[in-house]
Amino acid sequence: MLVTIAVNLAITTYERKRGQQLRSELLVSDAMHTRSDIYISMSVIISLVAVGLGFPVLDVLVAFAIAGVIGYMAISIFKESSDVLCDTRVIEYDKIHAVVKTINGVRDSHAIRTRGRKSEIYLDLHILVDPKLNVGKAHSIADIVEAEIKKSFPEITDVLVHVEPFGTTG
Ligand SMILES: [Zn+2]
Repeated sequence: MLVTIAVNLAITTYERKRGQQLRSELLVSDAMHTRSDIYISMSVIISLVAVGLGFPVLDVLVAFAIAGVIGYMAISIFKESSDVLCDTRVIEYDKIHAVVKTINGVRDSHAIRTRGRKSEIYLDLHILVDPKLNVGKAHSIADIVEAEIKKSFPEITDVLVHVEPFGTTG
């Protein structure tokens, strides 16, 4: 049992570190799951010792403490993954707007939406350009918007730009 704990502790520490480096919810969640196995192993050892020493009530107390820790971990995992599954906004509107409005040819932007995982964000937005621009020019502005956003926010992997003539709504 002590060997299992030592091995699991090494795995979970490494997995958690890599998970945070790679911003992978999957690895971090799995590390937390392995860690909950460690707490269970430890509780069994503590309980065995407690019963051996003649304190059976400690067994119950430890069981409650472990249940609390696992419940807390379950809530943390649930919260992290539900943000992803519910398409919670990942980057603040103002941060993106600040980048976009500095781009030559862009008069304004709106309907900025982000979704996805922290390491893989999808963004779409509307940009307003001079209505007299031809399609080729408007398209190259859209390309610059895409490139600038990806440069400023490396975690954004996909950008969809909707071009609109300035002065109209849509
Ligand atoms: Zn629009």
